[in-house]
Amino acid sequence: PEALSSIQGEDSIIEETEKVVGVADKHSFQTETQKILHIVAESLYTEKEVFIRELISNASDAIEKARHLQLTSQKIMDGDLPFEIKIATDDDKKTLIIQDTGVGMTKEELIKNLGRIGYSGTGDFLKNLGDNPDKASVIGQFGVGFYSCFMVGHTIKVYSRSAAVGSKGYLWESDGAGSYSISEADGVQRGTKIIIHLKPNSYEFAKKATVEAIIKKYSNFVGFPIALNGQAV
Ligand code: ADP
Ligand code: MG
Repeated sequence: PEALSSIQGEDSIIEETEKVVGVADKHSFQTETQKILHIVAESLYTEKEVFIRELISNASDAIEKARHLQLTSQKIMDGDLPFEIKIATDDDKKTLIIQDTGVGMTKEELIKNLGRIGYSGTGDFLKNLGDNPDKASVIGQFGVGFYSCFMVGHTIKVYSRSAAVGSKGYLWESDGAGSYSISEADGVQRGTKIIIHLKPNSYEFAKKATVEAIIKKYSNFVGFPIALNGQAV
Protein backbone atom coordinates (compact mmCIF):
# COMPACT_ATOMS: atom_id res chain seq x y z
CA PRO A 1 0.00 0.00 0.00
CA GLU A 2 1.10 3.55 -0.68
CA ALA A 3 1.24 4.39 3.00
CA LEU A 4 4.12 1.98 3.45
CA SER A 5 6.11 3.03 0.45
CA SER A 6 8.30 5.68 2.02
CA ILE A 7 8.84 4.08 5.36
CA GLN A 8 11.54 1.56 4.55
CA GLY A 9 15.02 1.92 3.17
CA GLU A 10 17.94 4.26 3.59
CA ASP A 11 16.05 7.30 2.32
CA SER A 12 13.61 7.05 5.14
CA ILE A 13 16.16 7.26 7.95
CA ILE A 14 15.35 10.51 9.70
CA GLU A 15 17.73 13.04 11.19
CA GLU A 16 17.73 16.72 12.06
CA THR A 17 17.77 18.52 8.70
CA GLU A 18 15.72 21.62 9.55
CA LYS A 19 17.34 25.04 9.86
CA VAL A 20 16.37 27.79 12.24
CA VAL A 21 15.81 31.16 10.64
CA GLY A 22 15.59 34.43 12.52
CA VAL A 23 15.66 35.05 16.24
CA ALA A 24 14.14 32.85 18.93
CA ASP A 25 11.55 34.23 21.34
CA LYS A 26 11.76 33.06 24.88
CA HIS A 27 8.67 32.13 26.91
CA SER A 28 8.24 31.03 30.52
CA PHE A 29 6.35 27.92 31.47
CA GLN A 30 3.25 28.51 33.55
CA THR A 31 4.01 28.14 37.30
CA GLU A 32 2.14 24.85 37.79
CA THR A 33 3.77 23.44 34.70
CA GLN A 34 7.21 24.42 36.00
CA LYS A 35 6.55 22.55 39.23
CA ILE A 36 5.45 19.43 37.41
CA LEU A 37 8.34 19.60 34.95
CA HIS A 38 10.85 19.87 37.75
CA ILE A 39 9.41 16.83 39.51
CA VAL A 40 9.29 14.84 36.28
CA ALA A 41 12.85 15.76 35.29
CA GLU A 42 14.24 14.81 38.70
CA SER A 43 12.18 11.69 38.98
CA LEU A 44 13.84 8.33 39.42
CA TYR A 45 10.74 6.66 38.08
CA THR A 46 11.75 3.19 37.04
CA GLU A 47 9.42 2.84 34.09
CA LYS A 48 10.86 5.75 32.14
CA GLU A 49 10.15 3.90 28.91
CA VAL A 50 6.51 5.05 29.08
CA PHE A 51 7.62 8.30 27.42
CA ILE A 52 7.77 6.30 24.17
CA ARG A 53 4.16 5.23 24.61
CA GLU A 54 3.14 8.86 25.25
CA LEU A 55 4.95 10.15 22.16
CA ILE A 56 3.60 7.40 19.90
CA SER A 57 0.11 8.05 21.18
CA ASN A 58 0.43 11.79 20.49
CA ALA A 59 1.80 11.05 17.00
CA SER A 60 -1.08 8.72 16.30
CA ASP A 61 -3.68 11.25 17.55
CA ALA A 62 -2.09 13.92 15.33
CA ILE A 63 -2.19 11.69 12.24
CA GLU A 64 -5.79 10.78 12.98
CA LYS A 65 -6.63 14.51 12.99
CA ALA A 66 -4.81 15.10 9.69
CA ARG A 67 -6.60 12.15 8.13
CA HIS A 68 -9.92 13.47 9.34
CA LEU A 69 -9.22 16.84 7.73
CA GLN A 70 -8.37 15.14 4.47
CA LEU A 71 -11.41 12.85 4.59
CA THR A 72 -13.67 15.82 5.12
CA SER A 73 -12.15 17.02 1.86
CA GLN A 74 -10.12 19.89 3.20
CA LYS A 75 -6.84 20.65 1.57
CA ILE A 76 -3.89 19.96 3.85
CA MET A 77 -0.24 20.94 3.65
CA ASP A 78 1.99 18.36 1.91
CA GLY A 79 -1.19 16.51 0.88
CA ASP A 80 0.63 13.51 -0.61
CA LEU A 81 2.82 12.75 2.41
CA PRO A 82 1.85 9.29 3.70
CA PHE A 83 0.42 9.00 7.22
CA GLU A 84 3.20 7.35 9.20
CA ILE A 85 5.50 7.50 12.20
CA LYS A 86 9.27 7.36 11.88
CA ILE A 87 11.59 6.80 14.80
CA ALA A 88 15.38 6.96 14.83
CA THR A 89 18.01 6.12 17.42
CA ASP A 90 21.53 7.51 17.28
CA ASP A 91 23.94 5.88 19.68
CA ASP A 92 26.78 8.30 18.82
CA LYS A 93 24.79 11.48 19.25
CA LYS A 94 22.74 9.94 22.11
CA THR A 95 19.47 11.05 20.59
CA LEU A 96 16.06 9.60 19.92
CA ILE A 97 13.86 11.15 17.22
CA ILE A 98 10.17 10.57 16.57
CA GLN A 99 8.45 12.12 13.60
CA ASP A 100 4.84 12.02 12.46
CA THR A 101 3.05 13.36 9.40
CA GLY A 102 0.06 14.43 11.45
CA VAL A 103 -1.75 17.68 11.93
CA GLY A 104 1.28 19.54 13.38
CA MET A 105 1.11 22.75 15.38
CA THR A 106 1.12 26.44 14.54
CA LYS A 107 3.23 28.79 16.67
CA GLU A 108 0.15 29.61 18.79
CA GLU A 109 -0.60 25.90 19.22
CA LEU A 110 2.99 25.16 20.29
CA ILE A 111 2.63 27.80 23.00
CA LYS A 112 -0.81 26.63 24.06
CA ASN A 113 -0.18 22.87 23.93
CA LEU A 114 3.43 22.51 25.01
CA GLY A 115 3.81 25.61 27.20
CA ARG A 116 1.56 24.40 29.95
CA ILE A 117 0.09 21.19 31.24
CA GLY A 118 -3.35 21.23 29.75
CA TYR A 119 -4.75 17.95 30.83
CA SER A 120 -7.58 17.71 33.29
CA GLY A 121 -5.73 15.76 35.98
CA THR A 122 -3.22 18.53 36.81
CA GLY A 123 -4.87 19.61 40.06
CA ASP A 124 -5.15 16.05 41.37
CA PHE A 125 -1.63 15.32 40.25
CA LEU A 126 -0.11 18.17 42.25
CA LYS A 127 -2.32 17.42 45.26
CA ASN A 128 -1.20 13.79 45.28
CA LEU A 129 2.42 14.74 44.91
CA GLY A 130 2.14 17.07 47.87
CA ASP A 131 1.48 14.36 50.41
CA ASN A 132 3.12 11.41 48.70
CA PRO A 133 6.78 10.65 49.42
CA ASP A 134 6.87 8.31 46.42
CA LYS A 135 6.67 10.89 43.62
CA ALA A 136 7.57 8.31 41.00
CA SER A 137 4.48 6.25 41.67
CA VAL A 138 2.32 9.35 41.28
CA ILE A 139 3.88 10.03 37.89
CA GLY A 140 3.21 6.45 36.91
CA GLN A 141 -0.37 6.65 38.06
CA PHE A 142 -1.29 9.93 36.39
CA GLY A 143 0.96 10.05 33.37
CA VAL A 144 2.28 13.37 32.21
CA GLY A 145 1.94 13.09 28.45
CA PHE A 146 4.44 15.05 26.39
CA TYR A 147 6.39 16.15 29.47
CA SER A 148 7.40 12.57 30.19
CA CYS A 149 10.24 13.07 27.68
CA PHE A 150 11.97 15.30 30.24
CA MET A 151 12.50 12.17 32.39
CA VAL A 152 15.02 10.97 29.81
CA GLY A 153 16.03 14.10 27.89
CA HIS A 154 18.08 17.09 29.00
CA THR A 155 17.01 19.04 25.91
CA ILE A 156 13.91 18.54 23.82
CA LYS A 157 13.51 20.04 20.35
CA VAL A 158 10.14 19.98 18.60
CA TYR A 159 9.95 20.94 14.93
CA SER A 160 6.37 21.30 13.82
CA ARG A 161 4.40 22.49 10.83
CA SER A 162 0.65 22.72 10.86
CA ALA A 163 -1.44 20.97 8.24
CA ALA A 164 -3.20 24.28 7.60
CA VAL A 165 -2.27 25.32 4.08
CA GLY A 166 0.32 28.11 4.09
CA SER A 167 1.62 27.42 7.61
CA LYS A 168 5.27 28.00 8.45
CA GLY A 169 7.52 25.60 10.31
CA TYR A 170 8.73 26.27 13.85
CA LEU A 171 11.20 24.95 16.37
CA TRP A 172 10.14 24.74 20.04
CA GLU A 173 13.08 24.00 22.31
CA SER A 174 13.49 23.57 26.05
CA ASP A 175 15.76 22.14 28.72
CA GLY A 176 12.71 21.81 30.97
CA ALA A 177 14.06 24.35 33.46
CA GLY A 178 11.52 27.14 33.44
CA SER A 179 11.50 28.40 29.89
CA TYR A 180 11.25 27.40 26.26
CA SER A 181 12.03 29.19 23.04
CA ILE A 182 10.33 29.28 19.66
CA SER A 183 11.97 30.13 16.35
CA GLU A 184 10.86 29.95 12.77
CA ALA A 185 12.50 27.09 10.87
CA ASP A 186 13.00 26.08 7.25
CA GLY A 187 12.73 22.57 5.89
CA VAL A 188 10.01 21.42 8.30
CA GLN A 189 7.50 19.00 6.78
CA ARG A 190 3.86 18.69 7.79
CA GLY A 191 3.54 17.20 11.25
CA THR A 192 5.94 17.04 14.15
CA LYS A 193 9.50 15.88 14.70
CA ILE A 194 10.65 15.55 18.32
CA ILE A 195 14.37 15.25 19.03
CA ILE A 196 15.35 14.08 22.49
CA HIS A 197 18.92 14.67 23.66
CA LEU A 198 19.26 11.94 26.26
CA LYS A 199 20.59 12.31 29.80
CA PRO A 200 23.51 10.00 30.66
CA ASN A 201 21.25 7.83 32.85
CA SER A 202 18.97 7.26 29.85
CA TYR A 203 21.44 6.42 27.10
CA GLU A 204 19.74 3.03 26.73
CA PHE A 205 17.07 4.82 24.64
CA ALA A 206 19.67 5.58 21.97
CA LYS A 207 19.93 1.83 21.33
CA LYS A 208 17.87 0.36 18.54
CA ALA A 209 17.16 -2.99 20.22
CA THR A 210 15.87 -1.34 23.40
CA VAL A 211 13.60 1.03 21.55
CA GLU A 212 12.34 -1.65 19.18
CA ALA A 213 11.21 -3.84 22.09
CA ILE A 214 9.38 -0.90 23.67
CA ILE A 215 7.66 0.07 20.42
CA LYS A 216 6.45 -3.52 20.01
CA LYS A 217 5.10 -3.51 23.52
CA TYR A 218 3.03 -0.35 23.10
CA SER A 219 2.17 -0.06 19.45
CA ASN A 220 -0.43 -2.82 19.03
CA PHE A 221 -3.24 -0.33 18.79
CA VAL A 222 -1.56 2.21 16.54
CA GLY A 223 -3.34 2.30 13.20
CA PHE A 224 -0.45 3.78 11.21
CA PRO A 225 2.86 2.30 10.04
CA ILE A 226 5.85 2.76 12.34
CA ALA A 227 9.44 2.51 11.14
CA LEU A 228 12.57 2.41 13.27
CA ASN A 229 15.84 3.41 11.59
CA GLY A 230 14.27 2.81 8.18
CA GLN A 231 12.71 -0.59 8.91
CA ALA A 232 9.03 -1.31 9.53
CA VAL A 233 8.39 -2.42 13.12
P1 ADP B 1 -2.77 14.84 25.75
O1 ADP B 1 -2.27 13.95 24.64
O2 ADP B 1 -3.39 14.04 26.87
O3 ADP B 1 -3.64 15.97 25.25
P2 ADP B 1 0.00 15.58 25.98
O4 ADP B 1 0.80 16.24 27.06
O5 ADP B 1 0.45 14.24 25.57
O6 ADP B 1 -1.50 15.56 26.45
O7 ADP B 1 -0.01 16.56 24.71
C1 ADP B 1 -0.48 17.88 24.86
C2 ADP B 1 -1.00 18.43 23.56
O8 ADP B 1 0.08 18.78 22.70
C3 ADP B 1 -1.86 17.48 22.75
O9 ADP B 1 -3.22 17.52 23.18
C4 ADP B 1 -1.71 18.05 21.34
O10 ADP B 1 -2.57 19.15 21.14
C5 ADP B 1 -0.28 18.57 21.35
N1 ADP B 1 0.64 17.59 20.76
C6 ADP B 1 1.49 16.77 21.42
N2 ADP B 1 2.18 15.99 20.55
C7 ADP B 1 1.76 16.33 19.31
C8 ADP B 1 2.08 15.88 17.98
N3 ADP B 1 2.97 14.90 17.76
N4 ADP B 1 1.45 16.49 16.94
C9 ADP B 1 0.55 17.47 17.15
N5 ADP B 1 0.20 17.92 18.36
C10 ADP B 1 0.78 17.37 19.44
MG1 MG C 1 -0.77 12.58 24.91
